[in-house]
Amino acid sequence: MPPTATLEDIKAYQQKVEKDKITPYNLPPCPRCSVESEFFKIHAYRERRFLIIIEMLIKAAYCSLVRFRCPGCDKTFTNYPDFAIPHKHYTRPSITGFSANYVESDKMTYQQAVMVDNSAPGYPQNDATLAPSTIHRWITSLGRLTNTCRTALTLLLQENPVSSICRDLARIIVPQRKYKTNERKKQLSGCRQLVVIEAFFQVTFKTSIFTKLAIRCAFS
Ligand SMILES: [Zn+2]
Repeated sequence: MPPTATLEDIKAYQQKVEKDKITPYNLPPCPRCSVESEFFKIHAYRERRFLIIIEMLIKAAYCSLVRFRCPGCDKTFTNYPDFAIPHKHYTRPSITGFSANYVESDKMTYQQAVMVDNSAPGYPQNDATLAPSTIHRWITSLGRLTNTCRTALTLLLQENPVSSICRDLARIIVPQRKYKTNERKKQLSGCRQLVVIEAFFQVTFKTSIFTKLAIRCAFS
């Protein structure tokens, strides 16, 4: 099975949106003016297109996301469902799963990292399949989220000061054959740290770091 959110995940979230069950309570305070999230107001609904993998085919699924507005400074925030990563069409399980394939194995190539049981997920419209360069790009994005990782790590250690996470993070080594520049080495190491932190985060907080920290994520 390829890593992906399911159509059921997306439909379930859409139903929550329609029944007004999406609340701002689990969000952190406004990063601009510190107003607590419980005072955020619903600002808008925006339809978003997601790409999920169904029986090895990449298919589009649509879902409304809720935007909240801070009453203190009028800044708006998107509330991301657990299966989403800000500004990405593929779902979180796909992005972190395929990226983890590559960064967590010393011998893996990008060509191998897109494969699931000897084939790569394909686009139904043509012969194209999920490209190795897409995994390379996801790792670049995830590897740059150093501030998000730091914040997530702080939350985890507040919750469980004796967590083994620091030991796991300290063990991360990037094999020399995977990079030519120091910049890439940093991204690979950052991505691998994020994969480790996300796994701990899911267990500890039953949610993704992207859902909890999206409004502070500095994506480029
Ligand atoms: Zn504010």
